[in-house]
Amino acid sequence: DPAVTLSMRLIPYSENLWLLVARDVSRLLRLEQMRRDFVANVSHELRTPLTVVHGYLDLIDDGQYPELTPMLAEMQRQSQRMAQLVEDLLTLSRLESQDGLPAEEPVAMAPMLSTLRREALALSQGQHGITIEDSAGVDLVGSGKELHSAFSNLVANAIRYTPAGGEVTVRFRADGPANPKGVVLEVSDTGYGIPAAHLPRITERFYRVSTSRSRESGGTGLGLAIVKHVLQLHRARLEITSEVGRGSIFACHFSRDRVRRRDEPGASSPP
Ligand code: ADP
Repeated sequence: DPAVTLSMRLIPYSENLWLLVARDVSRLLRLEQMRRDFVANVSHELRTPLTVVHGYLDLIDDGQYPELTPMLAEMQRQSQRMAQLVEDLLTLSRLESQDGLPAEEPVAMAPMLSTLRREALALSQGQHGITIEDSAGVDLVGSGKELHSAFSNLVANAIRYTPAGGEVTVRFRADGPANPKGVVLEVSDTGYGIPAAHLPRITERFYRVSTSRSRESGGTGLGLAIVKHVLQLHRARLEITSEVGRGSIFACHFSRDRVRRRDEPGASSPP
C-alpha cells in the first residue's frame, strides 16, 4: 500500500540532542475509516425499515382497538426515538468525513434565533421561561444547517435537564477581550447542572451523567458529540460552565473571521 501516514513527535533528549519518534498510524487510520463507513452504512440501512414500521403504526392506530392505544403510542414513541438516533448517527458520520472547513455561506442570525425560540417553546410546552437575547447584531459565516443543528441540540438539552419552572436563555453577544471582534452564542439554564468530574468527557458519543435521567429525557446521547464536531469545523470553541443544582452555560466562541455584518445581502435562513 503506497499511502503511509506517520505520526511524529520531537522529544528533548539531552542538552543538544532531540529524539524524533515516528509511528506508522496508517493501519489505525484505515480502521477508523472502516468504523465510520460501517456506522454510516448501518444507519442508512436502518432508515427504510424504520419508516415502514412507523408508517404502519400510524395506520393501525385509528382508534378501532382502544385497548391497544397505549401500547401503540409507546411503540410510536420508541420508533421515533430510533429514527432520531439514526438521523443523529448519519449527521455525525457526515461531520466526521468532512475534513477542513465547511461551507463559507453567510448565516443569518435573526431568523436562526427565532427558529431556536420556536423549537424551545415547542419542547418546553410552557414549563420554562424562555429568553432570547441578540446584542451581537452580526451574522455568522459557515454552514447554516450544521450550526443550526448544534445550537438546537444545546437548546434541547437546556430544556431537558432543567425542571419545570426553570429558565432557559439563549444569548448572542460580542465576546470578551480574549477574542477581539469575536462573538459568542451562549445557551444557559437553571437546571440540574453537571458535576465537574464529568465535564471532560461530556462531549463523547453516548456519554451520559445519569443514564436513567437521560433516557427518560428522550435524547440520543449524540447531541454534544454533534455540537463538538460542528464547532470544530467552524474553528469555534465550546466552553462549558456548570454548577450542580444551579445550572449550566454552554458557550460557543466564534472568532472574528466567522463574523459578518448583518446588513450585507445574501445571508441564508435556517430551516
Ligand atoms: P443526551 O441525548 O443524553 O442529552 P448529549 O450528548 O446531548 O446526550 O448530552 C450528554 C449528557 O450531558 C446528557 O446525558 C446529560 O447527562 C448531560 N447534559 C447535557 N446538557 C446538559 C445540561 N444543559 N444540563 C445538565 N446536563 C446536561
